[in-house]
Amino acid sequence: MKIAVAGTGYVGLVTGVCLAEKGHSVSCVDIDDRKVALMSSGISPIYEPGLEELMVKNMDRLNFTTNYKEAYKEADVIFIGVGTPEKPDGSANLSYVNAVALQIAESIEKDCVVVIKSTVPVGTNDKIEDLIKVNLFHNVKVSIASNPEFLSQGTAVRDTLNASRIVIGVEEPHAGEILSDVYKDFGAPILVTNRKSAEMIKYASNDFLALKISFINEIANLCEIIGADIEDVALGMGYDSRIGNKFLNSGIGYGGSCFPKDTKALHWLANFHDHELKTIKAAIDVNENQKLKLIKKSRKYFDSLKGLNVAVLGLTFKPGTDDLREAPSLVNIPILLEDGANVKAWDPVGIENFEKLFPENITYSTSIEDTLKDADVCFIFTEWDEVKDFDLSNYSILMRNPIILDGRNCYDLTSANKAKIVYDSIGRETINNLEVSLV
Ligand code: NAD
Repeated sequence: MKIAVAGTGYVGLVTGVCLAEKGHSVSCVDIDDRKVALMSSGISPIYEPGLEELMVKNMDRLNFTTNYKEAYKEADVIFIGVGTPEKPDGSANLSYVNAVALQIAESIEKDCVVVIKSTVPVGTNDKIEDLIKVNLFHNVKVSIASNPEFLSQGTAVRDTLNASRIVIGVEEPHAGEILSDVYKDFGAPILVTNRKSAEMIKYASNDFLALKISFINEIANLCEIIGADIEDVALGMGYDSRIGNKFLNSGIGYGGSCFPKDTKALHWLANFHDHELKTIKAAIDVNENQKLKLIKKSRKYFDSLKGLNVAVLGLTFKPGTDDLREAPSLVNIPILLEDGANVKAWDPVGIENFEKLFPENITYSTSIEDTLKDADVCFIFTEWDEVKDFDLSNYSILMRNPIILDGRNCYDLTSANKAKIVYDSIGRETINNLEVSLV
Protein backbone atom coordinates (compact mmCIF):
# COMPACT_ATOMS: atom_id res chain seq x y z
CA MET A 1 0.00 0.00 0.00
CA LYS A 2 1.30 3.51 -0.82
CA ILE A 3 1.23 5.65 2.27
CA ALA A 4 2.02 9.32 2.88
CA VAL A 5 2.49 10.95 6.28
CA ALA A 6 2.13 14.71 6.75
CA GLY A 7 4.43 15.98 9.51
CA THR A 8 7.62 14.35 10.73
CA GLY A 9 7.52 15.24 14.43
CA TYR A 10 7.37 12.73 17.27
CA VAL A 11 4.14 11.21 15.94
CA GLY A 12 4.52 11.54 12.17
CA LEU A 13 8.09 10.31 11.87
CA VAL A 14 7.62 7.41 14.29
CA THR A 15 4.42 6.42 12.46
CA GLY A 16 6.12 6.59 9.05
CA VAL A 17 9.14 4.61 10.15
CA CYS A 18 7.08 1.92 11.92
CA LEU A 19 4.77 1.55 8.91
CA ALA A 20 7.87 1.09 6.72
CA GLU A 21 9.15 -1.50 9.20
CA LYS A 22 5.89 -3.41 8.60
CA GLY A 23 6.55 -3.42 4.85
CA HIS A 24 4.65 -0.36 3.61
CA SER A 25 6.21 2.15 1.29
CA VAL A 26 5.97 5.52 3.00
CA SER A 27 6.51 9.08 1.86
CA CYS A 28 7.10 11.41 4.82
CA VAL A 29 6.27 15.05 4.15
CA ASP A 30 7.37 18.09 6.10
CA ILE A 31 7.55 21.82 5.41
CA ASP A 32 10.90 22.06 7.17
CA ASP A 33 13.73 21.72 4.58
CA ARG A 34 16.34 21.24 7.29
CA LYS A 35 14.49 18.27 8.78
CA VAL A 36 13.91 16.71 5.37
CA ALA A 37 17.60 17.02 4.47
CA LEU A 38 18.61 15.41 7.77
CA MET A 39 16.16 12.51 7.40
CA SER A 40 17.14 11.93 3.77
CA SER A 41 20.71 11.45 4.94
CA GLY A 42 19.61 8.95 7.60
CA ILE A 43 19.63 11.30 10.61
CA SER A 44 16.59 11.65 12.84
CA PRO A 45 15.85 15.32 13.63
CA ILE A 46 14.35 14.32 16.99
CA TYR A 47 15.76 12.24 19.81
CA GLU A 48 13.68 9.11 20.32
CA PRO A 49 15.31 5.84 21.39
CA GLY A 50 15.64 3.33 18.52
CA LEU A 51 14.11 5.66 15.92
CA GLU A 52 17.18 6.50 13.88
CA GLU A 53 18.29 2.86 13.70
CA LEU A 54 14.85 1.74 12.49
CA MET A 55 14.76 4.60 10.00
CA VAL A 56 18.13 3.66 8.53
CA LYS A 57 17.12 -0.03 8.40
CA ASN A 58 14.01 0.80 6.33
CA MET A 59 15.48 3.50 4.11
CA ASP A 60 14.56 1.59 0.92
CA ARG A 61 10.85 1.90 1.78
CA LEU A 62 11.06 5.48 3.08
CA ASN A 63 11.12 8.75 1.21
CA PHE A 64 11.42 12.22 2.77
CA THR A 65 10.20 15.27 0.94
CA THR A 66 8.79 18.78 1.09
CA ASN A 67 7.01 18.12 -2.22
CA TYR A 68 3.57 17.33 -0.85
CA LYS A 69 1.95 17.13 -4.29
CA GLU A 70 4.17 14.27 -5.36
CA ALA A 71 3.71 12.50 -2.03
CA TYR A 72 -0.09 12.81 -1.86
CA LYS A 73 -1.16 12.47 -5.48
CA GLU A 74 -1.07 8.67 -5.75
CA ALA A 75 -1.22 7.69 -2.07
CA ASP A 76 -3.78 5.10 -0.94
CA VAL A 77 -3.70 6.38 2.61
CA ILE A 78 -2.53 9.77 3.91
CA PHE A 79 -1.89 10.21 7.62
CA ILE A 80 -2.02 13.72 9.09
CA GLY A 81 0.38 13.99 12.03
CA VAL A 82 1.03 17.73 12.29
CA GLY A 83 0.87 19.68 15.53
CA THR A 84 -2.30 20.93 17.22
CA PRO A 85 -0.78 23.31 19.78
CA GLU A 86 -2.70 25.17 22.42
CA LYS A 87 -4.14 28.58 21.60
CA PRO A 88 -4.01 31.31 24.29
CA ASP A 89 -7.62 30.53 25.28
CA GLY A 90 -6.80 26.82 25.78
CA SER A 91 -8.54 25.59 22.60
CA ALA A 92 -6.65 23.55 19.98
CA ASN A 93 -4.99 25.39 17.11
CA LEU A 94 -6.14 23.54 13.99
CA SER A 95 -4.41 25.76 11.45
CA TYR A 96 -1.72 23.16 10.63
CA VAL A 97 -4.28 20.37 10.17
CA ASN A 98 -6.44 22.64 8.01
CA ALA A 99 -3.42 23.62 5.88
CA VAL A 100 -2.56 19.96 5.23
CA ALA A 101 -6.22 19.23 4.40
CA LEU A 102 -6.14 21.92 1.70
CA GLN A 103 -2.85 20.59 0.33
CA ILE A 104 -4.37 17.12 0.15
CA ALA A 105 -7.50 18.44 -1.61
CA GLU A 106 -5.28 20.14 -4.15
CA SER A 107 -3.03 17.13 -4.74
CA ILE A 108 -4.89 13.82 -4.70
CA GLU A 109 -5.50 12.25 -8.09
CA LYS A 110 -6.98 8.91 -6.98
CA ASP A 111 -9.42 7.66 -4.33
CA CYS A 112 -7.85 7.59 -0.90
CA VAL A 113 -8.38 7.52 2.84
CA VAL A 114 -7.21 10.55 4.82
CA VAL A 115 -6.41 9.62 8.40
CA ILE A 116 -6.25 12.20 11.17
CA LYS A 117 -3.68 11.05 13.70
CA SER A 118 -3.14 14.47 15.26
CA THR A 119 -5.10 14.98 18.47
CA VAL A 120 -8.11 17.04 17.43
CA PRO A 121 -11.29 18.17 19.21
CA VAL A 122 -14.39 16.05 18.78
CA GLY A 123 -16.07 16.99 15.51
CA THR A 124 -12.87 18.03 13.70
CA ASN A 125 -12.90 14.99 11.39
CA ASP A 126 -16.33 16.09 10.11
CA LYS A 127 -15.03 19.60 9.43
CA ILE A 128 -11.92 18.29 7.67
CA GLU A 129 -14.12 16.08 5.49
CA ASP A 130 -16.11 19.15 4.38
CA LEU A 131 -12.94 21.21 3.86
CA ILE A 132 -11.33 18.58 1.64
CA LYS A 133 -14.47 17.75 -0.35
CA VAL A 134 -15.25 21.40 -1.08
CA ASN A 135 -11.71 22.07 -2.27
CA LEU A 136 -10.97 18.90 -4.29
CA PHE A 137 -9.20 19.62 -7.60
CA HIS A 138 -9.77 16.19 -9.12
CA ASN A 139 -12.86 14.00 -9.30
CA VAL A 140 -11.85 11.43 -6.69
CA LYS A 141 -13.50 9.82 -3.69
CA VAL A 142 -11.98 10.57 -0.34
CA SER A 143 -12.88 9.10 3.07
CA ILE A 144 -11.81 10.60 6.38
CA ALA A 145 -10.84 8.43 9.32
CA SER A 146 -9.78 9.22 12.85
CA ASN A 147 -6.85 7.19 14.17
CA PRO A 148 -5.61 8.83 17.38
CA GLU A 149 -2.09 8.17 18.56
CA PHE A 150 -1.26 6.91 22.06
CA LEU A 151 2.54 6.74 21.96
CA SER A 152 4.63 8.28 24.74
CA GLN A 153 7.76 10.27 23.96
CA GLY A 154 10.85 8.42 25.11
CA THR A 155 9.29 5.05 24.24
CA ALA A 156 7.55 6.04 21.02
CA VAL A 157 8.95 3.31 18.75
CA ARG A 158 8.27 0.55 21.26
CA ASP A 159 4.78 1.93 21.94
CA THR A 160 3.95 1.99 18.24
CA LEU A 161 5.27 -1.48 17.43
CA ASN A 162 3.61 -2.93 20.56
CA ALA A 163 0.52 -0.73 20.71
CA SER A 164 -1.99 -1.42 23.49
CA ARG A 165 -4.77 -0.80 20.97
CA ILE A 166 -5.41 0.75 17.59
CA VAL A 167 -8.48 2.95 17.49
CA ILE A 168 -10.08 3.61 14.12
CA GLY A 169 -12.99 6.02 13.78
CA VAL A 170 -14.90 5.86 10.50
CA GLU A 171 -18.27 6.69 9.00
CA GLU A 172 -17.81 4.39 5.98
CA PRO A 173 -16.99 0.70 6.56
CA HIS A 174 -14.58 0.46 3.61
CA ALA A 175 -12.28 3.09 5.20
CA GLY A 176 -12.20 0.96 8.35
CA GLU A 177 -11.29 -2.11 6.27
CA ILE A 178 -8.43 -0.28 4.53
CA LEU A 179 -6.99 0.99 7.81
CA SER A 180 -7.39 -2.41 9.49
CA ASP A 181 -5.39 -3.79 6.58
CA VAL A 182 -2.65 -1.15 7.08
CA TYR A 183 -2.35 -2.25 10.72
CA LYS A 184 -2.86 -6.00 10.21
CA ASP A 185 0.75 -6.89 11.13
CA PHE A 186 0.94 -4.78 14.28
CA GLY A 187 -0.66 -7.51 16.41
CA ALA A 188 -2.67 -5.04 18.47
CA PRO A 189 -6.40 -5.14 19.23
CA ILE A 190 -8.21 -2.95 16.71
CA LEU A 191 -11.29 -1.03 17.82
CA VAL A 192 -13.38 0.34 14.98
CA THR A 193 -15.88 2.96 16.10
CA ASN A 194 -17.41 6.16 14.79
CA ARG A 195 -15.22 9.21 14.30
CA LYS A 196 -16.46 11.25 17.25
CA SER A 197 -15.97 8.36 19.65
CA ALA A 198 -12.43 7.84 18.36
CA GLU A 199 -11.64 11.53 18.83
CA MET A 200 -13.08 11.37 22.35
CA ILE A 201 -11.16 8.18 23.26
CA LYS A 202 -7.92 10.10 22.76
CA TYR A 203 -8.86 13.06 24.96
CA ALA A 204 -10.50 10.90 27.62
CA SER A 205 -7.41 8.66 27.80
CA ASN A 206 -4.90 11.49 28.11
CA ASP A 207 -7.03 13.47 30.52
CA PHE A 208 -7.55 10.42 32.72
CA LEU A 209 -3.77 9.92 32.94
CA ALA A 210 -3.25 13.60 33.73
CA LEU A 211 -5.91 13.33 36.41
CA LYS A 212 -4.15 10.30 37.90
CA ILE A 213 -0.89 12.28 38.10
CA SER A 214 -2.54 15.30 39.70
CA PHE A 215 -4.38 13.02 42.13
CA ILE A 216 -1.20 11.32 43.34
CA ASN A 217 0.55 14.70 43.59
CA GLU A 218 -2.20 16.04 45.82
CA ILE A 219 -1.97 12.94 48.00
CA ALA A 220 1.84 13.40 48.08
CA ASN A 221 1.46 16.98 49.27
CA LEU A 222 -0.80 15.79 52.06
CA CYS A 223 1.62 12.96 52.92
CA GLU A 224 4.33 15.57 53.50
CA ILE A 225 2.12 17.45 55.92
CA ILE A 226 0.92 14.47 57.94
CA GLY A 227 4.11 12.38 57.83
CA ALA A 228 3.09 9.55 55.48
CA ASP A 229 5.36 8.31 52.68
CA ILE A 230 3.95 8.68 49.16
CA GLU A 231 6.15 5.94 47.71
CA ASP A 232 4.66 3.39 50.11
CA VAL A 233 1.19 4.82 49.64
CA ALA A 234 1.49 4.50 45.83
CA LEU A 235 2.91 0.99 46.15
CA GLY A 236 0.04 -0.04 48.38
CA MET A 237 -2.51 1.46 45.99
CA GLY A 238 -0.88 -0.02 42.90
CA TYR A 239 -1.31 -3.64 44.00
CA ASP A 240 -5.02 -3.16 43.40
CA SER A 241 -5.57 -4.07 39.76
CA ARG A 242 -8.57 -1.73 39.62
CA ILE A 243 -6.16 1.14 40.27
CA GLY A 244 -3.01 -0.20 38.59
CA ASN A 245 0.56 0.75 39.45
CA LYS A 246 1.28 3.06 36.48
CA PHE A 247 1.17 6.86 36.64
CA LEU A 248 1.35 6.87 40.41
CA ASN A 249 4.76 8.56 40.61
CA SER A 250 4.48 11.84 42.45
CA GLY A 251 6.64 14.74 41.35
CA ILE A 252 6.59 18.31 40.13
CA GLY A 253 3.80 17.74 37.67
CA TYR A 254 3.24 16.62 34.12
CA GLY A 255 4.59 18.49 31.10
CA GLY A 256 5.14 17.66 27.46
CA SER A 257 3.22 18.41 24.33
CA CYS A 258 0.11 16.40 25.21
CA PHE A 259 -1.25 16.36 28.76
CA PRO A 260 -1.18 20.13 29.34
CA LYS A 261 -2.79 21.00 26.03
CA ASP A 262 -5.21 18.06 25.89
CA THR A 263 -6.59 18.75 29.37
CA LYS A 264 -7.07 22.40 28.49
CA ALA A 265 -8.60 21.59 25.08
CA LEU A 266 -11.20 19.21 26.54
CA HIS A 267 -12.00 21.66 29.29
CA TRP A 268 -12.41 24.38 26.68
CA LEU A 269 -14.63 22.16 24.53
CA ALA A 270 -16.87 21.32 27.48
CA ASN A 271 -17.15 25.01 28.41
CA PHE A 272 -18.00 25.83 24.82
CA HIS A 273 -20.96 23.48 25.16
CA ASP A 274 -21.92 25.04 28.55
CA HIS A 275 -20.67 22.02 30.39
CA GLU A 276 -18.05 21.99 33.10
CA LEU A 277 -15.55 19.16 33.54
CA LYS A 278 -14.77 19.72 37.21
CA THR A 279 -12.26 16.86 37.50
CA ILE A 280 -10.24 18.05 34.51
CA LYS A 281 -10.23 21.62 35.81
CA ALA A 282 -8.88 20.30 39.12
CA ALA A 283 -6.15 18.30 37.34
CA ILE A 284 -5.03 21.45 35.49
CA ASP A 285 -5.00 23.63 38.63
CA VAL A 286 -3.14 21.07 40.73
CA ASN A 287 -0.51 20.67 38.01
CA GLU A 288 0.12 24.40 37.70
CA ASN A 289 0.81 24.63 41.45
CA GLN A 290 2.84 21.45 41.54
CA LYS A 291 5.35 22.79 39.02
CA LEU A 292 6.42 25.38 41.62
CA LYS A 293 6.76 22.92 44.46
CA LEU A 294 10.59 22.99 44.53
CA ILE A 295 10.77 26.78 44.48
CA LYS A 296 8.44 26.81 47.48
CA LYS A 297 10.63 24.22 49.21
CA SER A 298 13.75 26.29 48.53
CA ARG A 299 12.21 29.14 50.55
CA LYS A 300 12.51 26.93 53.64
CA TYR A 301 16.29 27.07 53.30
CA PHE A 302 16.99 30.44 51.70
CA ASP A 303 15.32 33.85 51.93
CA SER A 304 16.67 34.55 48.49
CA LEU A 305 18.84 32.71 45.99
CA LYS A 306 20.70 35.90 45.04
CA GLY A 307 24.37 35.18 44.37
CA LEU A 308 24.00 31.47 45.18
CA ASN A 309 25.25 28.71 42.90
CA VAL A 310 22.24 26.67 41.80
CA ALA A 311 22.77 23.30 40.13
CA VAL A 312 19.95 22.08 37.88
CA LEU A 313 19.79 18.42 36.89
CA GLY A 314 17.39 17.74 34.03
CA LEU A 315 15.69 20.17 31.65
CA THR A 316 13.37 18.03 29.52
CA PHE A 317 9.81 17.29 30.60
CA LYS A 318 10.71 13.66 31.13
CA PRO A 319 13.64 11.31 30.48
CA GLY A 320 14.20 9.75 27.07
CA THR A 321 13.29 12.84 25.06
CA ASP A 322 14.84 16.14 23.99
CA ASP A 323 11.40 17.78 24.10
CA LEU A 324 11.03 20.79 26.37
CA ARG A 325 7.42 21.63 25.70
CA GLU A 326 5.71 22.55 29.02
CA ALA A 327 8.69 21.19 30.98
CA PRO A 328 8.74 22.33 34.64
CA SER A 329 12.30 23.63 34.03
CA LEU A 330 10.83 26.32 31.77
CA VAL A 331 8.77 27.74 34.63
CA ASN A 332 11.36 27.29 37.37
CA ILE A 333 14.59 28.46 35.77
CA PRO A 334 13.31 31.98 34.98
CA ILE A 335 12.31 32.28 38.66
CA LEU A 336 15.79 31.20 39.75
CA LEU A 337 17.38 33.73 37.39
CA GLU A 338 15.00 36.47 38.45
CA ASP A 339 16.00 35.76 42.03
CA GLY A 340 19.65 36.39 41.12
CA ALA A 341 20.92 32.79 41.25
CA ASN A 342 23.97 31.61 39.27
CA VAL A 343 22.38 28.73 37.39
CA LYS A 344 24.42 25.83 36.04
CA ALA A 345 22.39 23.19 34.21
CA TRP A 346 22.91 19.65 32.96
CA ASP A 347 20.78 17.44 30.73
CA PRO A 348 21.99 14.54 28.55
CA VAL A 349 19.98 15.56 25.45
CA GLY A 350 18.00 18.72 26.23
CA ILE A 351 20.70 21.37 26.37
CA GLU A 352 20.75 22.20 22.66
CA ASN A 353 17.04 23.00 22.64
CA PHE A 354 17.16 24.80 25.99
CA GLU A 355 20.07 26.95 24.92
CA LYS A 356 18.01 28.20 21.96
CA LEU A 357 15.43 29.53 24.44
CA PHE A 358 17.92 30.69 27.10
CA PRO A 359 21.17 31.55 25.30
CA GLU A 360 22.38 33.76 28.14
CA ASN A 361 22.74 33.77 31.94
CA ILE A 362 22.88 29.98 32.30
CA THR A 363 26.07 27.92 32.32
CA TYR A 364 25.48 24.63 30.53
CA SER A 365 27.48 21.65 31.66
CA THR A 366 28.24 18.27 30.15
CA SER A 367 28.60 16.38 33.43
CA ILE A 368 26.68 16.03 36.67
CA GLU A 369 29.93 16.34 38.65
CA ASP A 370 30.80 19.68 37.07
CA THR A 371 27.24 20.97 37.58
CA LEU A 372 27.31 20.18 41.29
CA LYS A 373 30.78 21.58 41.94
CA ASP A 374 30.57 24.34 44.60
CA ALA A 375 26.77 24.52 44.33
CA ASP A 376 24.71 25.82 47.25
CA VAL A 377 21.57 23.95 46.27
CA CYS A 378 20.57 21.42 43.62
CA PHE A 379 17.21 21.23 41.86
CA ILE A 380 16.30 17.92 40.15
CA PHE A 381 13.66 18.45 37.47
CA THR A 382 14.00 15.24 35.39
CA GLU A 383 14.52 11.66 36.54
CA TRP A 384 17.23 10.71 34.05
CA ASP A 385 18.92 7.34 34.77
CA GLU A 386 22.24 9.19 34.99
CA VAL A 387 20.86 11.12 37.97
CA LYS A 388 19.30 8.05 39.61
CA ASP A 389 22.61 6.17 39.21
CA PHE A 390 24.69 9.06 40.59
CA ASP A 391 25.85 8.19 44.09
CA LEU A 392 24.28 10.40 46.73
CA SER A 393 27.51 10.54 48.72
CA ASN A 394 29.06 12.54 45.83
CA TYR A 395 26.75 15.48 46.48
CA SER A 396 28.40 16.25 49.81
CA ILE A 397 31.85 15.93 48.27
CA LEU A 398 31.12 18.20 45.31
CA MET A 399 28.66 20.77 46.61
CA ARG A 400 29.51 23.67 48.88
CA ASN A 401 26.20 23.24 50.63
CA PRO A 402 24.61 19.87 49.74
CA ILE A 403 20.93 20.75 49.81
CA ILE A 404 19.09 18.62 47.25
CA LEU A 405 15.56 19.46 46.19
CA ASP A 406 14.38 16.46 44.22
CA GLY A 407 11.24 16.99 42.15
CA ARG A 408 11.25 13.41 40.87
CA ASN A 409 12.05 11.26 43.92
CA CYS A 410 15.17 9.84 42.27
CA TYR A 411 16.66 8.40 45.47
CA ASP A 412 15.42 6.19 48.26
CA LEU A 413 15.38 7.62 51.74
CA THR A 414 17.61 4.86 53.18
CA SER A 415 20.49 5.93 50.90
CA ALA A 416 19.72 9.60 51.57
CA ASN A 417 19.92 8.96 55.29
CA LYS A 418 23.47 7.63 54.94
CA ALA A 419 24.73 10.78 53.21
CA LYS A 420 25.76 14.10 54.70
CA ILE A 421 23.07 16.05 52.86
CA VAL A 422 19.71 17.71 53.07
CA TYR A 423 17.38 15.72 50.86
CA ASP A 424 13.95 17.22 50.32
CA SER A 425 11.75 15.30 47.88
CA ILE A 426 8.03 15.03 47.08
CA GLY A 427 5.57 13.47 49.52
CA ARG A 428 8.26 12.06 51.82
CA GLU A 429 10.09 12.90 55.01
CA THR A 430 12.87 15.46 54.59
CA ILE A 431 16.30 14.12 55.47
CA ASN A 432 18.34 16.83 57.18
CA ASN A 433 21.72 15.35 58.05
CA LEU A 434 23.41 18.75 57.94
CA GLU A 435 21.20 20.13 60.64
CA VAL A 436 20.55 23.10 58.39
CA SER A 437 18.30 25.52 60.17
CA LEU A 438 15.19 26.53 58.33
CA VAL A 439 14.42 30.11 57.38
P1 NAD B 1 5.62 18.05 16.31
O1 NAD B 1 5.47 19.50 16.58
O2 NAD B 1 6.76 17.31 16.89
O3 NAD B 1 5.66 17.82 14.72
C1 NAD B 1 4.82 18.43 13.81
C2 NAD B 1 5.54 18.45 12.46
O4 NAD B 1 4.60 18.84 11.45
C3 NAD B 1 6.70 19.43 12.39
O5 NAD B 1 7.85 18.75 11.93
C4 NAD B 1 6.22 20.47 11.37
O6 NAD B 1 7.28 21.05 10.61
C5 NAD B 1 5.31 19.64 10.51
N1 NAD B 1 4.35 20.39 9.66
C6 NAD B 1 3.67 21.53 9.94
N2 NAD B 1 2.88 21.86 8.89
C7 NAD B 1 3.05 20.90 7.94
C8 NAD B 1 2.51 20.68 6.64
N3 NAD B 1 1.63 21.52 6.09
N4 NAD B 1 2.91 19.58 5.97
C9 NAD B 1 3.80 18.73 6.50
N5 NAD B 1 4.35 18.88 7.73
C10 NAD B 1 3.99 19.96 8.43
O7 NAD B 1 4.24 17.38 16.75
P2 NAD B 1 4.01 15.98 17.50
O8 NAD B 1 4.50 16.04 18.89
O9 NAD B 1 4.47 14.89 16.60
O10 NAD B 1 2.42 15.97 17.57
C11 NAD B 1 1.62 15.85 16.41
C12 NAD B 1 0.19 15.58 16.83
O11 NAD B 1 0.11 14.30 17.49
C13 NAD B 1 -0.39 16.58 17.82
O12 NAD B 1 -1.76 16.74 17.57
C14 NAD B 1 -0.20 15.92 19.17
O13 NAD B 1 -1.13 16.33 20.13
C15 NAD B 1 -0.44 14.46 18.80
N6 NAD B 1 0.22 13.50 19.70
C16 NAD B 1 1.49 13.76 20.13
C17 NAD B 1 2.13 12.83 20.94
C18 NAD B 1 3.51 13.11 21.47
O14 NAD B 1 3.93 12.41 22.40
N7 NAD B 1 4.24 14.04 20.91
C19 NAD B 1 1.48 11.65 21.30
C20 NAD B 1 0.18 11.40 20.82
C21 NAD B 1 -0.43 12.35 20.01
